[in-house]
Amino acid sequence: MTAKVSDDVSRDGEIEVDVAEAIDFAVGLVKIRSVDEPGVSDESEATALVLEKMREWGWSPEHIEVAAGRSNIIVDVPGGGPAGPILAFEGHLDVVTDGDASQWSVDPFGGAIVDGRLFGRGAADMKAGVVSMLYGVRALQLAGPFPGTVRILALVDEEGMMLGAKHAVQSGALEGVAGVIICEPEGDEVCPVSKGAVRLRIDLDGVMTHGAMPDQGRSPLPALGRVLGVLGEIQRDLQERHGTHPHLGTTYVTPTVVEAGTPPQMNTIPARASLWVDIRSIPGVDHDQLIERIRTEVAAQGAVDGLDTTVSVIDNRPPVDTSIEDPVVTCLVSAHTSVTGAAPSFGGVPGTTDGTIFTRDANVPTVVYGPGGKWIAHQVDEFVEVEAIGRYALTYALAAREFLTRG
Ligand SMILES: [Zn+2]
Repeated sequence: MTAKVSDDVSRDGEIEVDVAEAIDFAVGLVKIRSVDEPGVSDESEATALVLEKMREWGWSPEHIEVAAGRSNIIVDVPGGGPAGPILAFEGHLDVVTDGDASQWSVDPFGGAIVDGRLFGRGAADMKAGVVSMLYGVRALQLAGPFPGTVRILALVDEEGMMLGAKHAVQSGALEGVAGVIICEPEGDEVCPVSKGAVRLRIDLDGVMTHGAMPDQGRSPLPALGRVLGVLGEIQRDLQERHGTHPHLGTTYVTPTVVEAGTPPQMNTIPARASLWVDIRSIPGVDHDQLIERIRTEVAAQGAVDGLDTTVSVIDNRPPVDTSIEDPVVTCLVSAHTSVTGAAPSFGGVPGTTDGTIFTRDANVPTVVYGPGGKWIAHQVDEFVEVEAIGRYALTYALAAREFLTRG
């Protein structure tokens, strides 16, 4: 059996993707302004479109409210064959802001197709991926019975605090799932690894006083400077100890914000200095140990000047390190090879995805692979090659069939 992708259908033996309809559906989805912005985040119109299509196909999606007006879609597509594992596909329906629309050469929510590219905010990140997973699973289903079940998760708030993914885990949607394919755009790379992320806030508390009488207070500023130096040492140490990952590069401990005093009060020594830190780690870096080390070092620097210190963890997402031998990875590699005629490259995700939450909170193997370029996400003139939508749908269908029928 040879896999084929053409303008109107993608097929592999009896699996046939309705490419023309999938592209139409992608255009409709891109036209919906499902932007994730504080106070106005609203995926409901996109959710409604996806639900309508699923019901048209005879599926029975669950529509689960995560926050006011924001709901995850979770649906099982049973194979109608023998009992077997559950394979999940995941995509998010929110997009980041289009920013200054005048910077775009097309309407960010116009759904224009120009020279084979579908343009728009969310075209690549990741409405194309959502459409490919829907039409791939539909094609698999129409091709006849298969063992086990495919579960589809179309979630909200990935671009925010990943409320949709966190809620999906809490509501049990990952229970019994043997693997998850995250359909984020990765430029045709199969990405079994993702960087970890930790966000910290460090507070140094002294005693406010007049700039003319520093001996009457306790300034947090010299310690702030020393802490910045210590963070640089910790970064060097981690980079030496853990080296460079072939797909993820190295570990960074990056101070991003400092806050202390105000210019109009330049004759006053402030009581508090605060520092925010963005840590990006590779597999092997133990986040808990790292946070503990930062706490100890910050306390030691504060103690020199009699300061109280607090290190608060704002977010903690460990790296993902799925084995390339895991069936959720191998099924994609062979499906990609069958559809394109060449083995895929492996890559890594520089940021985090909903898959990071699934692996962290539900201990499920995840892999990231989806239509669209890796770097185009969040940029102006975001686009996805229209050709990729049908090709990925077929690849997902083949991958699911292999995953669910493996002995
Ligand atoms: Zn995304």
